[in-house]
Amino acid sequence: MSEFSDRIVEEAWSRSGGACECNHPDHGHHNRCGKTLLKAYRGDKFSFFGWEAHSKSGLYIDELTDCEIVCWDPCFLTILEKAKYSTNEKSAII
Ligand SMILES: [Zn+2]
Ligand SMILES: [Zn+2]
Repeated sequence: MSEFSDRIVEEAWSRSGGACECNHPDHGHHNRCGKTLLKAYRGDKFSFFGWEAHSKSGLYIDELTDCEIVCWDPCFLTILEKAKYSTNEKSAII
């Protein structure tokens, strides 16, 4: 499984200010999602505060520019849903 290094995730988390960084136009939020997240809930898809370190490129390039802090619901779930139909983003999943 591909993953970012802890350092990159740490830096991305700092950059995010503890809020979803997603600004994808198809997710039903306007501009940046900005959902409040809690650091301890990384990977917790059942928590309201759950989040993931998402690779924008799908390749998990270990750089801050490729790492995006996204909330599970709706953003990461939407991303996973889309990935089912796209070969580019396959296996960006746990
Ligand atoms: Zn979000
Ligand atoms: Zn989103």
